Amino acid sequence: MRLRFEAGLVGPCMRCLEPADRHFDVDSREVHQPGGGDELQSPYVDAEDELDLQAWARDALALALPAQIVCRPDCAGLCPECGANLNEEPDHRHDAGPDPRWAKLSEIRFD
Ligand SMILES: [Zn+2]
Ligand SMILES: [Zn+2]
Repeated sequence: MRLRFEAGLVGPCMRCLEPADRHFDVDSREVHQPGGGDELQSPYVDAEDELDLQAWARDALALALPAQIVCRPDCAGLCPECGANLNEEPDHRHDAGPDPRWAKLSEIRFD
């Protein structure tokens, strides 16, 4: 058995939170041979030989999805300091100020 379909997902990009609209091609195969032993029984076919297409499609889509759904593969995401969208401001950066945990050190003077 072979199941092929295209799925569209719309939601916030996991990196920059802008709307992401992605399409995924799902192509899944299942073997089911009644009486062929456990390895030839599809988990999506029940004892009455009814195919649970919904469960199969759901699992196949879950396998086809990447771990992160982003608006585009090279999405730059958000600035970790101020949350600016780095896709819109590629030159955005912060001057590396002294880490407050080290501020006390700068007060030490060696005379
Ligand atoms: Zn993004
Ligand atoms: Zn920033």
